[in-house]
Amino acid sequence: MLTNIEFNKSLKKYISFSMNVYTKYFIKINKLDILYKIFDHFKSLPIIILGNGTNTIFLKDFLGLIIINNIKYISFIKKNKYYYLHVGSGINWNDLVLYSIKNNIYGLENLAMIPGKVGAAPIFNIGAYGLEIKNICKYVDILDIKRRKIIRFNKNKCKFKYRNSKLGNLSSRYIIIYLGLKLPIKWKPLINYYKLKNINIKKCNPRYIYNFISNLRKKNIPNYKKINNSGSFFKNLTLNKSKIIKILNKYSNVPYSLISKYKFRIPTGWLIDKCDFKGFRIGNVCVDSNNSAIITNYGSINNDIIFLIKFIYYKIYIKFNIKISLEVLIYFYNNRINLNDIS
Ligand SMILES: Cc1cc2nc3c(=O)[nH]c(=O)nc-3n(C[C@H](O)[C@H](O)[C@H](O)COP(=O)(O)OP(=O)(O)OC[C@H]3O[C@@H](n4cnc5c(N)ncnc54)[C@H](O)[C@@H]3O)c2cc1C
Repeated sequence: MLTNIEFNKSLKKYISFSMNVYTKYFIKINKLDILYKIFDHFKSLPIIILGNGTNTIFLKDFLGLIIINNIKYISFIKKNKYYYLHVGSGINWNDLVLYSIKNNIYGLENLAMIPGKVGAAPIFNIGAYGLEIKNICKYVDILDIKRRKIIRFNKNKCKFKYRNSKLGNLSSRYIIIYLGLKLPIKWKPLINYYKLKNINIKKCNPRYIYNFISNLRKKNIPNYKKINNSGSFFKNLTLNKSKIIKILNKYSNVPYSLISKYKFRIPTGWLIDKCDFKGFRIGNVCVDSNNSAIITNYGSINNDIIFLIKFIYYKIYIKFNIKISLEVLIYFYNNRINLNDIS
């Protein structure tokens, strides 16, 4: 029996953008075996499993079932030159980072304070301050509900890309259950990212880096528990050499980084800034006045956010001849939409 199903539940508390939309059915889970019962019971309805809802927006009520994943488990072994961690997908990412530091396992500190759960981390190949999941992932264990079987995707099978992976295209019958990480026992600080240039090399230890990055994040990213937001709304851009040269000819101070011989990355927040959107507001949604990559929500209805996204998209296209894409997942009723659908 599924006794803890709730009906017509507001998602406001479960989505960091915090729009007042409802889901027809809602359940929180902390054990794996209940998933079979849930999928049997709701097999004719759309189902979405969420972690902390920090990369998801619903524009309209969801006419299906939302599952909140609280499956918590962590273990690790030490073998040869590495630590191997096996982590349940319902653990908060930052709790994992703190747990590893407490157990003298280092290498996650650059990913301090990312507010999602472990399950979504490989889907988006989360990254910050020079480190991405793809650098440390060993495997992802996925439950195939239909075949009642756990399948292991090793790192190569995940096909990690910038804020993306093959895991994002799997249907809802596949649930990420565990993430396997591989971290060298011998720790080397990862501090060549340009925003870490003020790190005091003499003080440099994992806890210091964790605190340093946490402080930077507190200054640059609004706390979503106080100001509703979904982190960077758009993906940063990967550009080829001729494109970056064109921009450099006009703006010599573009903050770009080299990602391969011919590919460069520039922050989309910088483009948004250059289009004078800093602090720009439509209705109750606003481009953050401190960090233009972030859109904040002061109680919007869905039209506000659609207008704002369209406006930003077209202005950047007209000024730079560049098409930007969403980092946040947007649902319209039961379907995921992208910028082409709304532009
Ligand atoms: C303030 C703020 C700062 C942020 N900073 C960063 C940052 O520095 N770097 C970065 O990369 N991201 C950042 N993000 C984005 C976000 O935190 C990450 O993308 C995170 O991984 C999302 O996790 P979540 O649990 O909230 O995912 P959710 O939004 O709950 O889910 C996202 C998607 O993943 C799917 N999913 C979730 N769990 C599972 C599962 N177990 N099995 C199958 N599918 C699943 C969901 O169905 C949904 O489609 C930030 C967000 C905020 C609000």
